[in-house]
Amino acid sequence: MVRLNFEGARRRLVEALKVEGIIRSPSVEHAMLKIPRELFVWPGYEEDSYVDIPLPLGSTGQTISAPHMVAIMLEELMLRHCLHVLEIGTGSGYNAALLFELVRPCGKVVTVERVPELAEFARRNLAAAGYGEPQVEVVVGDGTLGYPPRLEEELYDRIIVTAAAPKPPRSLLVQLKRNGMMLIPVGSPGYQELMRVVKDEEARMSEESLGGCIFVPLIGEEGYRG
Ligand code: SAM
Repeated sequence: MVRLNFEGARRRLVEALKVEGIIRSPSVEHAMLKIPRELFVWPGYEEDSYVDIPLPLGSTGQTISAPHMVAIMLEELMLRHCLHVLEIGTGSGYNAALLFELVRPCGKVVTVERVPELAEFARRNLAAAGYGEPQVEVVVGDGTLGYPPRLEEELYDRIIVTAAAPKPPRSLLVQLKRNGMMLIPVGSPGYQELMRVVKDEEARMSEESLGGCIFVPLIGEEGYRG
């Protein structure tokens, strides 16, 4: 049996993303070198763990995003120690582990997934990689309503949505703290712009496009209807 050299492949991918100017900070580089993506891909896809493409998550119709897209979002989120982060779209749990690595040791990551089978898959992957609860909390539900759902409180320094929305869900804007930031792909199901939404000290919102992207749809009450 051929034993795959995951560590070598991980190093080569991270180096390539640095050369392309996608990984720019030592903290994102360190996190992507540390977290074994092979523990988060669907069984049978381990060999492709460090190919820079999205991979299917079994027969759920969902994907683990391509590493370059993950790195772009992590860099744009400007994470630092002790921030509270909400992720919508847990998928495999890979991005949640990276998020925790960037806010540890005093930060917190809550991640919401609407497909129960994937939430369970992610919980197993996160535990195997050493990021089980309480470091990363995986919740099953409709993330368009925030977490706790519909709670009208400013709870999170950063919100990252890893599925495509018709517009930024109101509940998520409410749960974003002052001086907080949300990244969210906004557009049609086939093509979106990655938007950065910032809430200032007076709770005024500003939006900026960071470029084109393609994500699976955000399905829920304040997203696309399933
Ligand atoms: N971040 C993931 C990772 O690291 O593997 C990849 C996310 S995948 C591109 C998008 C995920 O969003 C899917 O797992 C999908 O089921 C989930 N999703 C779609 N609508 C959702 C909703 N309303 N609430 C929570 N999760 C949702």
